[in-house]
Amino acid sequence: MAEALIKLDHIFKTYDLPGNNNSTVLSDINLEIQEGEFVAILGPSGSGKSTLLRIIAGLVEPSQGKVYYKNESGEGFRTGMSMVFQSFALFPWLTVLENVKLGLKNNHSLDEKQKEEKAIEIIDMIGLDGFERAYPKELSGGMKQRVGLGRALVMEPDLLLMDEPFSALDVLTAENLKRDLLELWMEKRIPTKSIIMVTHGIEEAVYMANRAVVLSRDPARVVANIPINLPHWRDKQDRMFTALVDKIYSILTTKEVGAATYKEDKTKKLAQLPNARSGALTGFIELLEDIGQKTDLYKLGDQLNLDLEDLLPIVEAASMLQLVMIKEGDIELTPIGKAFAEATVLERKEIFREQALQRVGSLNTVFSALNSKSNGKMPEEFFLNILTRHFGEEEAQNQLNTIIDWGRYAELFAYDEHVGQLFLEKEED
Ligand code: ADP
Ligand code: MG
Repeated sequence: MAEALIKLDHIFKTYDLPGNNNSTVLSDINLEIQEGEFVAILGPSGSGKSTLLRIIAGLVEPSQGKVYYKNESGEGFRTGMSMVFQSFALFPWLTVLENVKLGLKNNHSLDEKQKEEKAIEIIDMIGLDGFERAYPKELSGGMKQRVGLGRALVMEPDLLLMDEPFSALDVLTAENLKRDLLELWMEKRIPTKSIIMVTHGIEEAVYMANRAVVLSRDPARVVANIPINLPHWRDKQDRMFTALVDKIYSILTTKEVGAATYKEDKTKKLAQLPNARSGALTGFIELLEDIGQKTDLYKLGDQLNLDLEDLLPIVEAASMLQLVMIKEGDIELTPIGKAFAEATVLERKEIFREQALQRVGSLNTVFSALNSKSNGKMPEEFFLNILTRHFGEEEAQNQLNTIIDWGRYAELFAYDEHVGQLFLEKEED
């Protein structure tokens, strides 16, 4: 048996929340990853995937348990690993070359010239030849993520960590980059021994990885460890492929994991909103009304030609607002959902407003705060601050964007992006 490159031994993580609240995000995670493995970690949004990845990297300390990297456990950042972020995390004032070279900042065995040569070599390899002197703002999203990947690969990591690396890219761009990365990995053009990729893309996991690890949420536990033994290149139409996608999908939507169902958690004052836009939500409810009967979620995704991972946040939002009911992979409209589908535009907003105020803590918090101000206005920074304490920096902005979108749709409040302010809509009387 190959040596375990990384071993997670009874990992727990608890975040202290404001007001003496604790929230246990990870509970007793045990995981071993061998050299040569490409492991995908899947789980509902907010389950703790990013937290787990940060713990592996040594960027966050676990509350309990140990991480063994090459059989050693130590605190702090581990060398020999590098990370790719969803948000690219590039420095806008640095060129492509400088951003990639940054990966070698702590490498003291190379001089400046050698670093530059190495960076240029990686830039070639990831298909950015000719863009060495460009700044991030001149690049498309796909190219930016190539820079992010380049900065990680230039370190020649034994373990490459990727946190939803493709989810900010459009479908074609993402496909392209996935193929290129797989090619580098399969042809061993990079010395990387193992890859761990956090993703909410089931197809993406089955396309790329050799194993899928599924996490539950509240708290996250490992609920499944599924080997993916299909030879590359994998055909997404192949029956073995779709069978695996189907299998992982059904695990994710079980009650225990709850990727599609909104699960109320009374211990959390602010529940994380699924990042679905109100427009997508109304379209989805209309569609269910058209279908007119209980329907299989998985088939629905197929029929809409939508990846399940695109569908899930919408489904979860609809479930949170009690517009749909999900049972054993089937979805149907609730009476409230039916009323919503049949209502006029104005009545819909009213139903949405009522459901949202009752069910969505963060929307309620924003609305109450604005109401408590005599001028009905507050800076977005105020809310971002609170959200950051609950959800971490990266997710806080997503949460605020969704809250603003829902608040606008419900006509609860408006948002002026020039001054970064939320304000109550004036009542017309
Ligand atoms: P995922 O990546 O699966 O969406 P995260 O690991 O980002 O999940 O977050 C898991 C949970 O931990 C969420 O409920 C989130 O609110 C909470 N969380 C994440 N980072 C912090 C933090 N820095 N402080 C407090 N809570 C956090
Ligand atoms: Mg995450």
